[in-house]
Amino acid sequence: MTANLPTRRALILAAGATLALGALPHATRAAEPVPVVASFSILADFVQQVGGERVNVKALVGPNGDGHVYQPTPADAKALAAAKLVVINGLGFEGWIPRLVKASGAKAPVVTASEGVTTRTMEEEEGGKSRTVTDPHAWQDVGNAKLYVGKIRDGLKAADPDGAATYDANAARYLAQLDAVEAEVRATIARLPADRRRIITTHDAFGYFGRAYGFEFIAPQGVSTETEASAKDVARIIRQIRAEKIPAVFLENVSDPRLMDRIAKETGAKIGGRLYSDALSEPGGPAGTYIDMMRSNIRELNEALSS
Ligand code: ZN
Repeated sequence: MTANLPTRRALILAAGATLALGALPHATRAAEPVPVVASFSILADFVQQVGGERVNVKALVGPNGDGHVYQPTPADAKALAAAKLVVINGLGFEGWIPRLVKASGAKAPVVTASEGVTTRTMEEEEGGKSRTVTDPHAWQDVGNAKLYVGKIRDGLKAADPDGAATYDANAARYLAQLDAVEAEVRATIARLPADRRRIITTHDAFGYFGRAYGFEFIAPQGVSTETEASAKDVARIIRQIRAEKIPAVFLENVSDPRLMDRIAKETGAKIGGRLYSDALSEPGGPAGTYIDMMRSNIRELNEALSS
């Protein structure tokens, strides 16, 4: 029996070896970043802001992508299976995600970032029948974005408790930045003449922005891009622009510009620019982060509507 016990000398050698290994550079590196999957680019930015270097975040729907109608790939399922945390918007925005998460075998907790938001509903007509739909674009209200960030912070802390202090500090810093950008949004809108605070966009993505900041957005397409705008919807918008002298139509980064081009031509409304609705731009572009997106959107509104 005693023959199998290590000798005292062997124990000392083993301890020395451990110490030596501990001194090697690879052992002093920070732990591997926590793999996080976010359903689309705006959520991925929130995760990055809160997670910093502790996370490695992947957005399934990338820059300028349309989350409503996304077609998942096998690589998405692989990323989900490897994730320690999954962050989705909810409210029916990513209708494809529950099935994808299930099919991927993902075991990670899923944070629904919009949880706790005061939702907006709308009446939409489809096939001659009216139905109530929930507007999923809650992130366009900065107050809601702050709720999202709190949810993401709590999700990261639960998935990676060692990083709790970092997540708290990063979230606090980022929430203060969101307060600052929200003040800019309010100040910009306040400077616009009240009768010019209404525009046309392709799909109904700015209802939360409108509700929070006092602005009206009218769209031929509903709260999802899944169904095309009908000829009747387009005709209605054209009549409305003419009757109410709506000053501008705006393009969206996730929508085909042709419909808005046509409406602008038929009504004489000007094309005000491009708004970022459901996705960021490429990194380094005008809307590479959520904060840059909000700034870019209010800049475009201001330029088109202030004079
Ligand atoms: Zn949308």
